[in-house]
Amino acid sequence: MALAERVHRIKPSPSTAAAQRVRELKAQGHEILDLTVGEPDFDTPDHVKAAAVAAIARGETKYTPVNGTSELRAAIADKLHERHGLRYPVDRITVGGGAKQVIFLALMATLDAGDEVIIPAPYWVSYPDMVLANDGTPVVVECPEADGFKLTPDRLAAAITDATRWVVLNAPSNPTGAAYTADELRSLADVLLGHPHVLVLTDEIYDEIWYEPGHVPTLLGVEPRLAERVFVTNGVSKTYAMTGWRLGYGAGPAELVGAVNKLQSQISSCPSSISQAAATAALTGDQSFVRECVAVYQARRDRIVKMLADIPELSCSTPSGGFYAFVGCAGALGRRTPAGEVLRTDEDFARYLLESGQVAVIHGAAYGSPGYFRVSFATSSDVLTEACERIARACADLT
Ligand code: PLP
Repeated sequence: MALAERVHRIKPSPSTAAAQRVRELKAQGHEILDLTVGEPDFDTPDHVKAAAVAAIARGETKYTPVNGTSELRAAIADKLHERHGLRYPVDRITVGGGAKQVIFLALMATLDAGDEVIIPAPYWVSYPDMVLANDGTPVVVECPEADGFKLTPDRLAAAITDATRWVVLNAPSNPTGAAYTADELRSLADVLLGHPHVLVLTDEIYDEIWYEPGHVPTLLGVEPRLAERVFVTNGVSKTYAMTGWRLGYGAGPAELVGAVNKLQSQISSCPSSISQAAATAALTGDQSFVRECVAVYQARRDRIVKMLADIPELSCSTPSGGFYAFVGCAGALGRRTPAGEVLRTDEDFARYLLESGQVAVIHGAAYGSPGYFRVSFATSSDVLTEACERIARACADLT
C-alpha cells in the first residue's frame, strides 16, 4: 500500500515496542523481569474511579467543549497557579487525550517544513518523531552526564538559529530524572529572552514525582515574562496512575491554544467526558495518594541506585524525580559474553540482559544517548532487587 511519506519518516515508539516484546516473551512462557514500564504500578485511586462512575450515572456521557469541561480547566488553572505563580484564564488551557496528544497538536499547529525544534538529549523517545511527523526538523543537542544531562545556556545559544521554532524542556526528565535548579532556569531564560521567535515547550508530566525538598522549579516561576512563548504540558497519567484514562493538558498563549483547539475539533472533538470527570476529582481531591506513591518510588530508587552503583561495569547517578534511572554501561562495552559475543553497543548490552538474565531494559540510543540504558522503578521492590542481582551476574560473566 502507498502510505504517506510522513509515516515512513517516523518509527514506532521504542518504549511501546519494548513493552510489546516483553509481552510476547512472557506469552511464550519466559519469566521476564520487566524494567521497561513507563507507567505507575499503582491502581488509580478509588475516589477518582468513583468520580468517573458518578459522571456516567449523571449522564455525563456526551461530547464536552472541544477544550475540556470548565470544571476541569478551573482545576488545572489552580494547579498551574500553585506551580508557576501565574493565573491562567481558563480559555488559555486546553485538555486532550493525554499529554502526548496535546504536544503533538501543539507541534502540528506551529511547524512548517524546515522549522527546527531543539531537543536536549537524553530525550523522551517521542519528541523527535512527533517533530518529523509534523514536517519539522529535530535538532538534538547532546547534554552529557557531566552537565547532569541538562541543557546549558551555551549549548542552547549555539543551537538556536533563525529557523528555530521550539525548544523542548522536560523536567523531571524521562529518562534521567534530572530537573533544572532555579539558577539554571534563570540562565536558560536569559538566553531565551534574547530570541523572541523561539517558543518553549515545558513538559512537566513528572512534576509531582519529585524527591528533593519543595516543588520542582519551573521556567515560568523563574521568568513569568516568557509566558507569551511557553506552552506548559502536563497530565494525570503519571501522578495519579491514570495512563489508560488518556487525559493531558496544555496551557499557553491564546493564539496557540486556539490553534490546538481548532485541530482537536477536527481530530477527536474532545477528550473522554468520563476521563475529564475523573481528572477533575484527581486534581481537586485528597493528594495523599501522590505522597504515598512518591515515598514508595523514593525507597525503590534508593535501593536500585545503590545496587547498580555497586556493579563495577555500570554507573548510576541518582534521579531527582520521575521513576526512571539512566544507567551508564560504557564499562561493559567491548567485553565478551559467555556465548562469545562482543558487546559493541548499549543495544547489544540490553539484548544480552534480556537473553542471559531475562531482564528487560531500554537501550540509551533510543533516548538519543548511546552508552546508557533506562530502568523503570515503577515496579515492585522484589522484582527490582532480583533484576539488579541478575544484572550484576550478567556483568560479572563478561570477560
Ligand atoms: N511526556 C513524557 C516525558 C512522558 O514520559 C510521557 C509518557 O511516557 C508523556 C509525555 C505522555 O503522557 P500521557 O500519558 O499524558 O500522554
